Amino acid sequence: MTPLEYDQNFIWHPYASLKNPPPVRLAKSASGAEIELSDGRRLIDAVSSWWCAAHGHNHPAIVEAIRRQSEKMCHVMFGGFTHDPAITLAERLAAFAPPGLDRVFFADSGSISVEVAAKMAIQYHSALGHPERNKLLALKGGYHGDTSLCMALSDPDGMHTLFKGLMTRHFFAEKPSCPFGAEWRPADKSSLENILDAHGDEIAAVICEPVFQAANAMNFYHPAYLREMRRLADAAGALVIFDEIAAGLHRTGPRWAQQHAGVIPDIMTVGKALTGGHLTLAAALASAKVAETISNGHPSAFMHGPTFMANPLACAAACASLDLFAATDYSAHAARIEKTFASRLSRLKVLPNVLDVRILGAVAVVETRGLPSQADISRVIDEHGVWLRPFCNFIYSMPPFISNNATLGRIADAMADLASCPPGAAPIDPDFHE
Ligand SMILES: *Cc1c(COP(=O)(O)O)cnc(C)c1O
Repeated sequence: MTPLEYDQNFIWHPYASLKNPPPVRLAKSASGAEIELSDGRRLIDAVSSWWCAAHGHNHPAIVEAIRRQSEKMCHVMFGGFTHDPAITLAERLAAFAPPGLDRVFFADSGSISVEVAAKMAIQYHSALGHPERNKLLALKGGYHGDTSLCMALSDPDGMHTLFKGLMTRHFFAEKPSCPFGAEWRPADKSSLENILDAHGDEIAAVICEPVFQAANAMNFYHPAYLREMRRLADAAGALVIFDEIAAGLHRTGPRWAQQHAGVIPDIMTVGKALTGGHLTLAAALASAKVAETISNGHPSAFMHGPTFMANPLACAAACASLDLFAATDYSAHAARIEKTFASRLSRLKVLPNVLDVRILGAVAVVETRGLPSQADISRVIDEHGVWLRPFCNFIYSMPPFISNNATLGRIADAMADLASCPPGAAPIDPDFHE
């Protein structure tokens, strides 16, 4: 059995079957915008390895930070100990975050940071004597992770229906339908408004991916929606949680997607590009009001604590990654990527299998009537040397910010080739999301 055969028989990949496993490629090394395969071929990583490798793969400054930290201490439990990488990162994150979000909880993945944010909201209201506020209000079309609370907050008609029995029922507002850049339609907020009117006193917090609903809908919606959300939540006494795991750190242009709206949440989550995709780390950032209310309540402790909380290697990687975000104008990179993709991809709208082309910051989405066959997808990846990972009916790219215009051009050519293919007869493996 070759290593690849072993993999296909014994190792689950994300949202994949072990019976008819989708093809996987053997990766050997990665640097900059490229992944090198075991046979020596190189693929441009047009999805930044699930939107994490913002500075490119194996960035020398991040690798060096991990190496230096590894010589001192790879891990120590965060219960009863602290360390410089965690303290430095907390300070850096507070300086990076919108004003007031300076209380930090380090989590070991994005999903866990969302669980933590939701638990903070519930513990906040419990501390205020309102344990009945134990539901959240989320948006249809949203995605917040794969653990059970996160599944329960993600699109209720999405990929998690199998696990309904595990999930508490939360409230869902209609998917925001007024597009980014269009004229604001105030009616877009009515679903949110109606639910908060009817059930506001059961709701601990409203949670959303600000402006950019990523893994479920690839939807860019109007920033005014967030201003209405903030206003309606305040009126209902509910907190606001922004999940910036996908949209944050310049993916939509500004450092945080919430900056499109000028709205600051009570709690926000950050992950994915936090370490530049080098190690797994996420964080929930809370306001002093949230932190102090929890601390003054009963129990005073916030009730969460993962084994690998604030892993020093991951914190060191994140510090180096934030240094890179601070040293270079990533908004300018996002604007350059947006411009390049717009000039190359907008014309795909006329293709028979294309429903829509949407571009915002360093995200380009081609919405198809049906994804091309797996054979066509594999052919395009191999012929163009560009790694794409379409899902649902979306062909998209979220490239590393350091991708130069030649790289972006090759990505656009590959996307155009794929968008020209007819829909596949059988749907691709039920890989409904990222
Ligand atoms: C990816 C993602 C998550 C989950 O993060 P993991 O690190 O995969 O657990 C949560 N929220 C959003 C918006 C995401 O894009």
